[in-house]
Amino acid sequence: MKRTSVAILALAAAVSVVHAQAPKAPFTREDAEAGKKLVATSLELRAQIKDTAAPADPFKILGNLYFVGSANGESYLLTSPQGHILMGAGFEAAVDRTQKNIEALGFKMSDIKAILLNHSHVDQSGAAAELKRRTGAPVMAGFAEVPYLQRGIHAQSPFAPPDPSGRGGPRYPAVTVDRALHDGEVVQVGPLKVTAYLAPGHSPSSTSWLYTVRDGGRDYRVLEFCCWEYPDDLSRQGFITEATTRRTIDLWRTLLPIDVYLEVGAYAWSGTLTQPSGTITERMARLKTDNKLFINRDVFRQLSAAREVEFEAKLPTLR
Ligand SMILES: [Zn+2]
Repeated sequence: MKRTSVAILALAAAVSVVHAQAPKAPFTREDAEAGKKLVATSLELRAQIKDTAAPADPFKILGNLYFVGSANGESYLLTSPQGHILMGAGFEAAVDRTQKNIEALGFKMSDIKAILLNHSHVDQSGAAAELKRRTGAPVMAGFAEVPYLQRGIHAQSPFAPPDPSGRGGPRYPAVTVDRALHDGEVVQVGPLKVTAYLAPGHSPSSTSWLYTVRDGGRDYRVLEFCCWEYPDDLSRQGFITEATTRRTIDLWRTLLPIDVYLEVGAYAWSGTLTQPSGTITERMARLKTDNKLFINRDVFRQLSAAREVEFEAKLPTLR
């Protein structure tokens, strides 16, 4: 083979490698670069939270949406005159504070008509059983989380090495799930409508919640997202498969635009990441006085683009 042909082939191979790791439209390379920086900021802020279950003050995010969780985020309340939806139950140890936060905002526990759990881990579902008892509300979760929730088991990779403690990982009080959610199903309480989107990876059916919040005469699409999970070696996480992850990334494209991006942790909210500087404490304080910081259509798109590139790059470790 001539040297020029070899060079062309090598160039073609290099281009195809680069191409394989570029995000697909509507994401761009610029989105992926910006998203990578957001991920780095988010990790930095996350490392500042030393006690994730520590108390935090409640506040209004936007319209009828309130933060009622702990230092790490976790719990949100979407309200209406016909009843409220609580998303994320938080840690078992934080349950009294969550109730106090809800009541401090002027809402009643008995007006909560649905408790939505995004996945079966201690930080999200630890207080689910107790909150169900205190509110009388039905508990709902992605269908594949149900066997774990009903046994109080922290869902982890079925291929992980056995837990040396013999306890099978962290435990929390088991909770009976009243409704198993499948992808695209809608939870309705009075005028409130929350759509569930299932994205296996972090757990068997991690669930994100999409809904509209009206503030200042405008409607905003809010996504409470769960959860990024791309370890360096993808084979370490037994709930990640190529087929499900590709389907999840395609789903993110269809959800655009997202005006307000919320993650289970405050370290990755759009309102936190759109601030140019500050510690997590300073950023949280600023959010309480300026909720417009939450509104940003770039954050979810850029994070998605970066994660698509990251997934493609790590894919060989899954095979
Ligand atoms: Zn988790």
